[in-house]
Amino acid sequence: MHVYSDGSMKDHVNERSGVEVPARFPAALAGVEAAEKAGVGVEHRPCESAPEDTLTAAHDTGYLRHLEEVSTAGGGVLDPDTALGPGSWAVALLTAGAAVGAVESALSGTTAFAVSRPPGHHAGRRTAMGFCLLNNAAVAAEHARSRGLRRIAILDWDVHHGNGTQDIFYEDAEILYLSAHRSPFYPGTGASYEVGVGSGEGFTVNVPLPARSGEDLYAAAFAGVFLPILREFQPELLIVSAGYDAHAADPLGGMRLETESFGRFAAAVSSLTREIDAPPPAFLLEGGYDLDALSACVATTMIGASEEPPDWNYAVEVSPVEESRSSHAPYWESLR
Ligand SMILES: [Zn+2]
Repeated sequence: MHVYSDGSMKDHVNERSGVEVPARFPAALAGVEAAEKAGVGVEHRPCESAPEDTLTAAHDTGYLRHLEEVSTAGGGVLDPDTALGPGSWAVALLTAGAAVGAVESALSGTTAFAVSRPPGHHAGRRTAMGFCLLNNAAVAAEHARSRGLRRIAILDWDVHHGNGTQDIFYEDAEILYLSAHRSPFYPGTGASYEVGVGSGEGFTVNVPLPARSGEDLYAAAFAGVFLPILREFQPELLIVSAGYDAHAADPLGGMRLETESFGRFAAAVSSLTREIDAPPPAFLLEGGYDLDALSACVATTMIGASEEPPDWNYAVEVSPVEESRSSHAPYWESLR
């Protein structure tokens, strides 16, 4: 597995975030080390700053200049949870660059993990939000599109809805966004009836789940919604917004996933890419705020990526998942 990270990723300080702390970076890297000890072959890859043309495919140029100027001027506050420091712009560029690198690895046939911070999935075209500056998954998807791909999927299992990613691709039929998240919860979006608009209708797939959901509900979301839609969509690349704040120990999430749950998620998506003859997944770190759980979950994701898929079936109707299935039945034959 290729791991993309850069030592400077601990240098971004968000003074408005109680939990998105620099210590998350060494904690996530400790997970890489644990995976290595467990037998995962790891090749550390350097990150390069994401190129401007890839950034402008996902973000407004004025927004990019604003981030750069605020950071260069010493920092500032962008939203109630999101602040920049003097080193933040350079780190944000490297984090987006790590996502681009992970796509390149995946397209060359090697599973990759961008072990980086800050996270990205709340950042919109021209908005910083919820600890996020650049939308790393969106930049990664646009990079893949610039390489000629026309069917790209982003699967987001962070406990929060990735409203930024959804917004950026809401009218886009080439980039399928799928998310399971706690609802009602921050940031307030991600209802099952939010399915995309225009030519993008049907290509945004939300499975909102109640507080305290455990792996049984997530398994139903995978087996009843994500996996059938992905089989039908046949992505040429699968990007995973891998957040770990739905872990039972997380101080924000309020869900009940276990460390091993994320290994099974990774096994499910990796085996799906093999089944449909797509490149292996590119995992991008999003949230996850209990440092021990973060380390352990990064490790189980990396280990799980080469394991057999879990035996999940969608046999009985599961109410929160059923709503999402009926919202998407008009667009996906596999759900009818
Ligand atoms: Zn989150």
